[in-house]
Amino acid sequence: MAIYLDTEVQYLKGVGPKIAQLLEKKEIYRVADLLEFFPRVYEDRRHARSISSLRPDETVSLRARIVQIHNLSLGRTRRRVVNMVVGDSSGRIVCKFFRIPFRGYFEKFEVGQEVRVVGKLTFYRGQLEFHHPNLFVDLEEQMSDQIIPIYPQTEGLTSRKLSQLILSTLESIKPSLTEAFPENLMQKYNLIPKKQALEFLHQPPQSAGTELLELKTPAHRRIIFEEFFWFQLFLATRASGFKKEKSTPIVITDEKKNELISQLPFELTNAQKKVFDEVRRDLTFGYPMHRLVQGDVGSGKTVVALLAASMAIKNGMQAALMAPTEILAEQHFKNSQNLFSKLGIRADLLTGSLTQKEWKDVQARMMSGETQLVIGTHALIQDDVRFLNLGLVIVDEQHRFGVDQRKTLKEKGKSPHFLLMTATPIPRTLAMTVYGDLDVSIINELPKGRQPIITRLGAEPQRARLYEFLSQQLQKGRQAYIVYPLVEESEKVDLKNAMEEFEKLQRIFPSARLGLLHGRMKADEKESVMESFRKGETQILVSTTVIEVGVDVPNSTVMVIEHAERFGLSQLHQLRGRVGRGKEKSYCFLMAGYALSDVAQERLQVMVDTNDGFKISEKDLEIRGAGELLGTRQSGLPGFRLADLVRDAEILQQAREAAFAIVEKDPKLIKKEHQLLREKLLKAHGPNTFGSIG
Ligand code: ADP
Ligand code: MG
Repeated sequence: MAIYLDTEVQYLKGVGPKIAQLLEKKEIYRVADLLEFFPRVYEDRRHARSISSLRPDETVSLRARIVQIHNLSLGRTRRRVVNMVVGDSSGRIVCKFFRIPFRGYFEKFEVGQEVRVVGKLTFYRGQLEFHHPNLFVDLEEQMSDQIIPIYPQTEGLTSRKLSQLILSTLESIKPSLTEAFPENLMQKYNLIPKKQALEFLHQPPQSAGTELLELKTPAHRRIIFEEFFWFQLFLATRASGFKKEKSTPIVITDEKKNELISQLPFELTNAQKKVFDEVRRDLTFGYPMHRLVQGDVGSGKTVVALLAASMAIKNGMQAALMAPTEILAEQHFKNSQNLFSKLGIRADLLTGSLTQKEWKDVQARMMSGETQLVIGTHALIQDDVRFLNLGLVIVDEQHRFGVDQRKTLKEKGKSPHFLLMTATPIPRTLAMTVYGDLDVSIINELPKGRQPIITRLGAEPQRARLYEFLSQQLQKGRQAYIVYPLVEESEKVDLKNAMEEFEKLQRIFPSARLGLLHGRMKADEKESVMESFRKGETQILVSTTVIEVGVDVPNSTVMVIEHAERFGLSQLHQLRGRVGRGKEKSYCFLMAGYALSDVAQERLQVMVDTNDGFKISEKDLEIRGAGELLGTRQSGLPGFRLADLVRDAEILQQAREAAFAIVEKDPKLIKKEHQLLREKLLKAHGPNTFGSIG
């Protein structure tokens, strides 16, 4: 039977339903997936290495004997960590596993056994270690002059079996593999043909040098370029689609603009002014703005957005502001009233907790045009919500929403302008990938008078001192947050934990008033708890992570985060950003469970070392990868097989440039040399790719 790239793997020779199922676990469904399942490491059997000769950051292969196997379980979740010490005649080294590759993985190992270890060396606290190396016990096959690709292991499917399967598949499909890249693209960016790259990666020649072990061959470059390129090409066509839509321009004179700005209770920072000017210019074009404003927590994005809203309103259009939580929507609503009380803008709040009657009334005002600015939650994208003439859509904390939700909102107007805001400042390379079709503005300056937040790591032994410090702050009239992570699988248990802690804290701070906020409360309960905290009626807000986004209470100066090791760095930074909003010195205490691993300790240290959200997210990206950093909500982020957003930033830049250049010259990819690009794009993203999609 002839096979094609989209032939399902179960029809391959030697693959039955059982193996197909195992492959599926690795997201290999079709021949194309199989061919693009690349080795992450290569075992170099030409050079046997001794432990004493190892250097940091090398990828090496060695033979050694298992000396010790330590099984540790950490913390309440009893996460398992395995440390295996191996040794040869020259020394010993530890192999650390922070997660178990698959159930039963370690059962095949025992002390005294000889193993092959293949992996990259990490230098940590003066010591060389392997983190998640590949371990093999089949020592009998000794092919001493070869470089062997090592594929990620799955239960029941060895690296060797995968290698055989991939090679035989590659062999039979080779004659029909076509090159999708046009010749001039390959030349300009010095790319080798795809076929050649596939062969090289799956069956490297004996002559391959260290660049193979470092994954830096021309074959790697070709594949990585291609992975980036497809997504950039998609983004480029989408961005060019935006420009074909017709929107109503929104214009104000300099005079009006200055008048607007002078109404504000504070002076805008230069960064805010610059970004507002960028937004203002975008709005004057006859096609919709698609601009993302990135800015660190507390940098004042909301004001810029509200200025844009009032521009739209002055031009006779409606504006909508969507926020991810009710608390945040309420807060924006209040802010908009404070900021624009003099402007006489009629705003309404639309959330799920309105009564039926209230909802109807708001809806009627929106339809009649009486409401000029609607602030709300997901409620805004419900089917029955209609506007008279929606001209500007603002999405706050936009990474909390999916692309499709943005699209729904878009459809409630006639190609409205889009202003997206995010306080997860993400590194440039990542922004190019996720927001590659948007124009990006950055507010890289905090309002005057803000002081850096002092951050400390602590654990149980420091707790008494922490509480003492807290009481002092309360006595000075300040307020504090104490945040707990979601710990258990079940919400019920979490709730119980939060309640217990709450009662404990009440006993520790008998003269303080405490508020409790958690995910299970009804919206109006949450709001009243928030409201009393905002007004200073309660001094300590005990909370699960529901306060994470955007809450703004300038009088709070202390943030305590319990089990800080369970949070991502960006999330910690967001939480920390709840303090340091006023003139007083602010503090953040990261309390860790006592069984904190070295790696976790090092990770948290980043928070102590810097207040810069960009640096933190850079680090977060390195540690956790893009998917985690952005959260699962962010749909549309492609999973890269080989490309790495941190390591391959330069290739990404080139792939982006190449893709945008092609689309600029040939927006619908109808030229003959772009035929295959077009086909592939349509196949991946559907028939609407070249239409106007949001
Ligand atoms: P974020 O960018 O995190 O959404 P906000 O828009 O919530 O930040 O602004 C944080 C706080 O700073 C708010 O209380 C806001 O009123 C205030 N603020 C914004 N811009 C300025 C400024 N230029 N000067 C002083 N305070 C400002
Ligand atoms: Mg905000």
